[in-house]
Amino acid sequence: MDPDLEQLKQHLPMLEYLQRHNWTPRRRSARQEFVGLCPLHEEARPSFYVNACKNLFYCHGCGHGGDLIRFVELFLHVSFRQSVAHLQQELASRARSAAAAELLAQTVAYYQLQLHRTSEAVRYLEHRGLRDSAIIEELGIGYAPGGRLRGHLTAQGYPFDLLLHTGLIDNQGRDAFCRRVIFPCRQHGRIVNLYGRSIGTAFPHRLLPRSKGGLFAWDSVSQCSTVILVEGLFDLAVLWQSGFRNTTSALGTHLTPAQLDQLCDRPGRLIYIVFDQDENQAGQQASQHLRLRLERAGGTALIVRLPAGHDPNSYFVSGATANDFAARLEGAQPL
Ligand SMILES: [Zn+2]
Repeated sequence: MDPDLEQLKQHLPMLEYLQRHNWTPRRRSARQEFVGLCPLHEEARPSFYVNACKNLFYCHGCGHGGDLIRFVELFLHVSFRQSVAHLQQELASRARSAAAAELLAQTVAYYQLQLHRTSEAVRYLEHRGLRDSAIIEELGIGYAPGGRLRGHLTAQGYPFDLLLHTGLIDNQGRDAFCRRVIFPCRQHGRIVNLYGRSIGTAFPHRLLPRSKGGLFAWDSVSQCSTVILVEGLFDLAVLWQSGFRNTTSALGTHLTPAQLDQLCDRPGRLIYIVFDQDENQAGQQASQHLRLRLERAGGTALIVRLPAGHDPNSYFVSGATANDFAARLEGAQPL
């Protein structure tokens, strides 16, 4: 085979390509073999096998198999030549997102340092009930003071255009995040976005103008047989701090189809939905709506009630203990 094509395939591992296109393996068998639903035909039981070592696939349902170039031909209904062109573009976009991920990792490291230097930010975390430095470190929480990021990153050799393209700064070179607590959003071990919560009141939430990826911290939660889903990252942080490490978040109440798939990717998993108990019933309605969506996708979900007006964060801040929360989980109902 053409050495260029061999190189292309070597640089684009099949498993990674599939996962980037929202394929989720249902299980992993011996020798780096992954099994899931076939993207090439409709099926309810997984019969699509990917060998991550050999970079090959085979489907026992439709009988198709081969390398990544062959997969793309079938998946996108294109010719061999078009498939190669598509994969070359894919390789270039992968290089761009690797550069962006490295830049975001540097930014997060910088923001983490700033957190410890800013008493106002540390006080804000305490006020939100977050005191455990190990959890703060593990979640990668930092603080963006505003006004200094561009200088710090360009001094490290990152070009202005890349900072602009990533959305970390605007055309005038001003920081996108200013006086915000920062949570890095990771997917497959890589930072894909940053969530910023203002410690003032104006425009409290902010994300970079790029995909927020899948469910928050899914790499560590995906193995759990029960999962707690909350709206916000301060909800998640206090729950992790109280020992509920199986908590994830979609950063809001609306889940993308890919996030819904993640929640349903393990048979028998029980999902606890713990949204805000809003006076206008918005959180409660969103819970019910999501429970039905999950059920249609084959998942099982229960709705957890908190005292009126509370979200998980304010519930803990107001003095609730891990036992109190566990009792709320016990009392969870389908409605
Ligand atoms: Zn198939």
